[in-house]
Amino acid sequence: ATPTAFLAATGRGAQLGVLVRGPEALERLRRIDTVLFDKTGTLTTGRMTLTGTTVADGVDPALVLRLAGAVEHGSEHPIGRAVAATARAAEGDGRLPGVTGFRAVPGTGVTGRVAGRRVTVGRHRPDAPLPAVLRRALDRAGAAARTAVVVEWDGRPVAVLAVGDTLRPGGPAAVRELRALGITPVLVTGDGPAAARFAAERTGIEEVRAGVTPEGKAALVAELRAAGRRVAVIGDGVNDAAALASADLGIAMGGGTDAAIGAADLTLVREDLRAVVAAVRLTRATLRTIR
Ligand code: ADP
Ligand code: MG
Repeated sequence: ATPTAFLAATGRGAQLGVLVRGPEALERLRRIDTVLFDKTGTLTTGRMTLTGTTVADGVDPALVLRLAGAVEHGSEHPIGRAVAATARAAEGDGRLPGVTGFRAVPGTGVTGRVAGRRVTVGRHRPDAPLPAVLRRALDRAGAAARTAVVVEWDGRPVAVLAVGDTLRPGGPAAVRELRALGITPVLVTGDGPAAARFAAERTGIEEVRAGVTPEGKAALVAELRAAGRRVAVIGDGVNDAAALASADLGIAMGGGTDAAIGAADLTLVREDLRAVVAAVRLTRATLRTIR
């Protein structure tokens, strides 16, 4: 593309609410044939709410919420923000206990020491034992298309928290129009299969990969590229950064984490997924004209 065409295209891009990192990004956008969508925060708003707390026998739910909320206070993940906000609201003074040794593991969860216990909140490991009451809570959450996480203290599973999210309204139209342009949509998420399938069905995506780690997302990009596909990734989280960086084109949600925006070639400022379609159309039209 000529510099003039690039300026014209990026000017239009800005009107569409798309920030572009450079001229090569537009050329690569024009040629993509596959789009991998992250779920939480991308197909969904990422404004999650805590919808249910189930505890193991003899465990105090108020204490679970307080300690889980304290650890999640350090997280920038939508799940962490939902749990911390509910926990703060449940405290009279809005203050949660202090945490030491906090660590967030992207795509897995958080851990820290609080009130004398090592507390972990995160993804359920399928091979880890779980009391029947918590396993049932996990299944119920899945059936309701909720995301469920397990709270452990001192290595013992004590609760399941269910969180809910809302699909973004622009998703189905974006997916339909991408297909019309010959581009294949795929949903790739760290969340479980039930929540993944629900989001995919509602958005009109047929190909779904659930329970995928951040490294797994990047590995899928590499696999598809090795098979000759030209792959764009759309994501918002730290867990998407590696996939965004290794894709032919990385697209970040404007409200996403700095890690995602830093790794991406394009940013959707208004978080409207239909802007991706408009941008593809724009590059195809513009770059055709100047050839
Ligand atoms: P997605 O790909 O849908 O954006 P992530 O890769 O960010 O999902 O997270 C995958 C899973 O890891 C979540 O569904 C959850 O089980 C767990 N997880 C990640 N971060 C947190 C957190 N801060 N608190 C609890 N669980 C988390
Ligand atoms: Mg996400």
